[in-house]
Amino acid sequence: MKSTVSLRDQKELTLLRRDFHAHPELKYEEKRTARVVCEKLKSYGYSRIKTGVAKTGVVTLLKGKGNRTILLRADMDGLPIEELNKTLYCSKNKGVMHACGHDAHVASLLMTAKHLKKEALAGNIKLVFQPAEEGGEGGRVMVEEGVLRNPKVEAAFGLHVWSALPVGKVGVTPGAIMAAVDKLEIKIKGKGGHGAVPQVTIDSIVVAAAVINSLQSIVSRNTDPLDSVVVTIGKITGGSSFNIISEETTLVGTVRTMNPKTWAKMPGLIERTVKGVTQAYGATYELHYKRSAPVTINDKKMTEFVGEIAASIVGEKNVIRDERTLGGEDFSFMLREVPGCFFFVGSKNEKKGLVRYHHNPTFDIDEECLPIGVEIMKKIAVKYFSYFPKPPHF
Ligand SMILES: [Zn+2]
Ligand SMILES: [Zn+2]
Repeated sequence: MKSTVSLRDQKELTLLRRDFHAHPELKYEEKRTARVVCEKLKSYGYSRIKTGVAKTGVVTLLKGKGNRTILLRADMDGLPIEELNKTLYCSKNKGVMHACGHDAHVASLLMTAKHLKKEALAGNIKLVFQPAEEGGEGGRVMVEEGVLRNPKVEAAFGLHVWSALPVGKVGVTPGAIMAAVDKLEIKIKGKGGHGAVPQVTIDSIVVAAAVINSLQSIVSRNTDPLDSVVVTIGKITGGSSFNIISEETTLVGTVRTMNPKTWAKMPGLIERTVKGVTQAYGATYELHYKRSAPVTINDKKMTEFVGEIAASIVGEKNVIRDERTLGGEDFSFMLREVPGCFFFVGSKNEKKGLVRYHHNPTFDIDEECLPIGVEIMKKIAVKYFSYFPKPPHF
């Protein structure tokens, strides 16, 4: 790869990432991270910096010629995980870890900001440091607070370092790339009693077991096998002792879908199943179904554009055009409003033992991936306005 990121800047980029990695903060608590982002932006010559956006987010506008604007986004939060890595830069905050790679995103967008300041741009670049991606819907809150207005944003781009791809590869996939995330809570109400006298009880644990199994048949029997769906019950709570039949049992889980039509259908299918099974056992239920991030959908033309840029940096054979996951991503709240592209920058390196998937306590990235992300983000900003001489219709 021919890099326009000098060795000095590559070193700064790595140190920035390591500094964020050592100081992870949970969703909506990214105060230190936001402070460092502001300080760095100021040192790069940025002056009008908005803080406190969506509580802890930071936004700045780099003015170019004309009045068109695109947005580049990085998420900033860590996860409630105790880091097990023993690196020099491992987490100093007990029980909190950058186990998804958002530390790399913040550092990469900062370095992009530094480089773009020296470019003659044909339009404005809104740089967005977003809080609370991990279950906090920071992306939604930023959209509601107007991040896509004043000036109006016509396209949005973001990246994720990606441990499913080796370093040097970039995933640029059109259409639905990440799943819609729904949250599910089912309270099953039976009738408690003595563990040896089941005939006068309704055992909520037995009902819960039947509900869990039946929910899986929604995936295998009620949805198209070519259409990806996941139903996971991640938590079950009920009962108090070996000889007591539990009055109430609660199931908590998540539903993931890639197709907006299936997404629309799932609450009804879940309710029908829960209702039917609980009725069969003489129990009752309470179902709370909550939508979180929608499906992340990449615009076809914007994806072609990013794909060409990625190919010019890592070579066509290293651009993967069908990388998808049923993980969720709240950048989808921005891509629901404006076209754009979210791409994956490979960060795995088997030789260095950097193979763990995101959210694992020993997750880490090959830092060689950092300049690749910067290079792509930078080129997006520099080339966008000539590649798309007119704003897209949406
Ligand atoms: Zn994550
Ligand atoms: Zn993430």
